[in-house]
Amino acid sequence: MAKIQFFGAARTVTGSCHMVTIGKHRFLLDSGQFQGPWELEKLNYAGFGFKPSTINGLILSHGHLDHCGRIPVLQKMGFENNIYCTPPTEDIALLILMDSAHILKEEFLWKQRRLTRAGIKVKEPLYSLEDVYFCMQLFGSRVPYNKKVKIAPDVHLSFHLNDAGHILGSAQVVLEYKEKRGKAKKIVFTGDLGDGGRPTVDDPAPPEPDIHTLVMESTYGDRDHKSYQASVEELEEAITSTVKRKGTVLIPTFALERTQELLYHIGNMKRSGKLSKRIPVFLNSPLAINITRIYQKHCDYCSLFKKTPLNKKHTPFEFPGLFFTETVEESKAIHGIAGPKIILAGSGMMTGGRIKHHLKHLLWKDSTTLIVVGFQAEGTLGRRIIEGAEQVHIFGEPVAVRARIYTINGFSAHADRTSLLKYVKKARPKKLFIVHGEPNAQNALAKTIKKALPRTDIHIPSLGQHYAI
Ligand SMILES: [Zn+2]
Repeated sequence: MAKIQFFGAARTVTGSCHMVTIGKHRFLLDSGQFQGPWELEKLNYAGFGFKPSTINGLILSHGHLDHCGRIPVLQKMGFENNIYCTPPTEDIALLILMDSAHILKEEFLWKQRRLTRAGIKVKEPLYSLEDVYFCMQLFGSRVPYNKKVKIAPDVHLSFHLNDAGHILGSAQVVLEYKEKRGKAKKIVFTGDLGDGGRPTVDDPAPPEPDIHTLVMESTYGDRDHKSYQASVEELEEAITSTVKRKGTVLIPTFALERTQELLYHIGNMKRSGKLSKRIPVFLNSPLAINITRIYQKHCDYCSLFKKTPLNKKHTPFEFPGLFFTETVEESKAIHGIAGPKIILAGSGMMTGGRIKHHLKHLLWKDSTTLIVVGFQAEGTLGRRIIEGAEQVHIFGEPVAVRARIYTINGFSAHADRTSLLKYVKKARPKKLFIVHGEPNAQNALAKTIKKALPRTDIHIPSLGQHYAI
């Protein structure tokens, strides 16, 4: 008998981790980090609810931290079997984990400085860079799309990965096994599904035929995105009007996927003559630079890049006037360059990183344009700015908000309500588990699916809940 149990992204978005048990074999789908308020983040330190040493393998859907960010903890607690994923996911996940270890250490040192004098003992970081190095030994089982891998021959258990169209290398996991009575069953985990029609990733593969159990994400289960094309046009208008005024365009970036998508569109503006080749564009985030290099390395995972003649001599992210600025000195030097320019810098929600220095220098100038292309969580500097604050505090100093602010919402890497519904109607699973979403989005989606597929057995699992399948 097969069983599925949910250890993360259950009635919440982050911490993706589900266990499939078939016979005596236990496989994990993802081992992600919980992110957000402390009530969620403290779950990262609370163990897993199972013994990691008993897990026979981990199949990783993609390289976002909320899907891979607890792999080092899993390894520290005794997991020592293979991690299966696509080649781009392996490269991205290791980079994201190293960056995460660095941030955890910085946070630890900062807290230690503040709290030790008060006699408060600070919790050790969740994992260190050394722990991430140990995880490297578990990777190496690189699985390209559509390649069948047998993982437990006694129960005829195999899996393959289909493109999820979310970020480069992202995958839907298709598990197949045969029960004792000889009946074959298919379990599909969507991972995070993309919306289709994006330049830097292919469209998600259509659902497999004959799905018995579907575990589906629901991040945008209750809403639709704005038109993608309208968002690209808005981006182009914001950039060209600022360049005309000889101002600076400042774009806070999420290092993974959004940066590469923006670079592609800015490159297109230059290639089509909408933007002068002489206007400098600075990518000022070491993590985003390294991820862009991974995108360049794995260009064969995106068909537009394979087809485009650009690829013959140049990679899709190269264009005249693009500068990768990695060091702090290079970062500071940007402000000495006169005339119109474009700066992309982390972090995406303006909570840390080099964007804060640029905001301090540029937010008070009315020649600046700030283009916000990603979700801004409550309590972040980004949220205060887009909600219309006239003044904000950056590094303890008051800074007036005089820049033009554009909030462009159509760049999400997730499928919206309409796309999710289209997918599940085509899949027609017997059992459906809705994961990776806030309760409102999940309930709304479940209600809509119930109407469309009345025979499907729909569940919204809670943390730790298990089901026979
Ligand atoms: Zn994701």
